[in-house]
Amino acid sequence: LTIEPDNKDWTWVLERPCAECGFDASAVAHETIAPLTRATAARWLLVLAEPTSLLRRRPEGRWSALEYACHVRDVFWLFDHRLLLMLNEDDPLFANWDQDRSAAADRYNEQDPSTVGQELVVTARSLAANFETVSGPMWRRRGRRTDGAAFTVASFGRYMIHDPLHHLSDVAEGFNRLSGRADTVG
Ligand SMILES: [Zn+2]
Repeated sequence: LTIEPDNKDWTWVLERPCAECGFDASAVAHETIAPLTRATAARWLLVLAEPTSLLRRRPEGRWSALEYACHVRDVFWLFDHRLLLMLNEDDPLFANWDQDRSAAADRYNEQDPSTVGQELVVTARSLAANFETVSGPMWRRRGRRTDGAAFTVASFGRYMIHDPLHHLSDVAEGFNRLSGRADTVG
């Protein structure tokens, strides 16, 4: 199952609204990244309160909700790590991260949803707290991926927050497909 590997270029989400989830990263003021990160983590906790059997079911061609939650937890961790690199080094080059390999190697779908929820919230709080240390010219500090994509701390934050929000819509869509119900979750 292949979902947006790290080398796929999603940086267009900085230029225009996402057609799939509707989120417009360009409209996010950088001082809202920290509170938005905490609010998004709280929405993931609600997802993880669903029955474990539902959380582990994979809709056709998609990750399960639990796999997405594990991914989001790891995205928060990865972006926290990269944010600290940007704040502490000059224009660091980020190491590659293969998301599908990570999902398989860590057996995402076998993890305990309540543990994943706790880890997701702790990691999101750390990331939010580190974004709150950023002020003034620090928002213009830079970092690069190996595929050539270049970020400032501000664009990095706007890019980051789309991912867990986008996957909330993936999960809502997946729940709808699995259950046939009309309401959405998250
Ligand atoms: Zn999206």
